[in-house]
Amino acid sequence: MGFACEDLTTNRSLSIYSGWLEQHCQPNFRTNVTPDPSTCCGPYKPLKGFKNDKPPSLQKAVDVHSHDTIGMIAVDKQGNVATGTSTNGASHKIPGRVGDSPIIGAGSYADSSVGGAAATGDGDTMMRFLPSYQAVENMRMGADPTTACRKAIARIQKHVPVFFGAIICANHTGSYGAACCKAPGFSQFHYTVFKPGLSQPLLEVVDCL
Ligand code: ASP
Repeated sequence: MGFACEDLTTNRSLSIYSGWLEQHCQPNFRTNVTPDPSTCCGPYKPLKGFKNDKPPSLQKAVDVHSHDTIGMIAVDKQGNVATGTSTNGASHKIPGRVGDSPIIGAGSYADSSVGGAAATGDGDTMMRFLPSYQAVENMRMGADPTTACRKAIARIQKHVPVFFGAIICANHTGSYGAACCKAPGFSQFHYTVFKPGLSQPLLEVVDCL
């Protein structure tokens, strides 16, 4: 895509990593491996009888301070809609973890005849519900963007009452909204809007459900 290859390590990321190693690699999301991942660093091998090291929810690892997904919805003059996400994933993730961000319908979804949505949060929970797809379908069925976002979050809450997650929605005419799930330390979600008539981006805030 034209980007030069470069080392993205920073002094801060290096010190977080060194701290993690010093704390015997805690937090650690591996399960069913040896040596014991709750006390030891790897290299790990699957316990006898377990082939896969299946990650549990990252709810404890992803919070208001540690998430970093950039989710965007763009609507042009003709009403064409595009969405995209960019993410680090989650701190201390297991190598190979994909998460929700790159999954169409989970991290984001766009349909120019309706609108778009993009999500952030505990991808291991959210990716099971395709909230971005759900929000766009809610708008297709007539919901305004705020209601569409709320319904997508509420649908996850029915199964997982508390998770860390938020979603933004915009329809193809440029109306927009957002919703989030109230979790410890996370009661509001901030997002930014830029639209015709504004000279600078507008910071919006929504109270979590
Ligand atoms: N959704 C991302 C993930 O779970 C994390 C984030 O939103 O920052 O990979």
